Amino acid sequence: MPRFGALEAGGTKMVCAVGDEQGHILERISLPTRTPENTMPEMLAFFQDKDLAAIGIGCFGPVDLDPSSPTYGSILSTPKLSWRNFPIVQRFEDALGIPVGIDTDVNAAALGEAVWGCTRDVRNSVYITVGTGVGLGVIIGGKPHHGMIHPEAGHIFMDRRPDDPLEQGVCPYHGNCLEGLASGPAIERRWGRKAQDLTDCNAVWELEAYYIGQAICDYIMMISPEKIVLGGGVMHQQQMLPLVRKEVHRQLHGYLQGKGLDDLDHYIVPISLGDNQGVMGAVKLAMDAYDRQAGK
Ligand code: ADP
Ligand code: ZN
Repeated sequence: MPRFGALEAGGTKMVCAVGDEQGHILERISLPTRTPENTMPEMLAFFQDKDLAAIGIGCFGPVDLDPSSPTYGSILSTPKLSWRNFPIVQRFEDALGIPVGIDTDVNAAALGEAVWGCTRDVRNSVYITVGTGVGLGVIIGGKPHHGMIHPEAGHIFMDRRPDDPLEQGVCPYHGNCLEGLASGPAIERRWGRKAQDLTDCNAVWELEAYYIGQAICDYIMMISPEKIVLGGGVMHQQQMLPLVRKEVHRQLHGYLQGKGLDDLDHYIVPISLGDNQGVMGAVKLAMDAYDRQAGK
């Protein structure tokens, strides 16, 4: 049975894994993200000699996903300067001589859940991660949605709640976008403590749910997903999901009803693959790259 390489490329760590066609993760290591000069050889050392059919990468971004672009498979304007314009797909292809698939980190996570996890029963879903940043992966007709580049729906503009003690959100580009108001660093700036140390403060999570709920209403209106998955460090707070569902119900204001919206407990759901949705999605990206090369 063919084996596939999977890389979850993040700003702080690189998770390298080997998986099979059933999405089983057979091996997995985590390396700190340093510069490409340091980290590429370490990743290649892991993937070499593993007899892989292809590799898939779920990559921090933005990343060029247009196959007809001269910079396809390159990381674009990341604040991690040493990785800016880095042709990550090309480097893996050159070094390993096997097909390489790529998508955003959050599209890969959405894909992992869509193929093997909690959204495998639907064709259209979104995956929201709330962590250091906020990101949205969009699956339409079973496939990650790209468009011009790919959605950057963590940066949609928000109505700031008038009593929010944070006057200006933390996004350096937009201030009060979703990421600016609801990311882990936004919580920390607003309340002066790390999000994980604020579990008992109800006001923190009610305000957080207000913003996440607002964004979800926008996503429902624009994309009409059949299911919504919530992941990322901030969602480790168990009290968040019920609060978010309550906010979505309140902010939709009865405008949309029926279908999944009558049962928000099964419409807005937590991740189901533990810590593996990203690498499992990357395995699927590798399988697709392999099939493309084989002309399937
Ligand atoms: P990253 O986004 O960097 O890949 P995470 O999804 O873990 O990683 O996000 C990190 C952010 O999530 C930090 O801002 C941190 O404060 C917050 N975070 C991590 N764990 C928790 C937790 N248990 N409860 C609330 N916030 C958390
Ligand atoms: Zn922003």
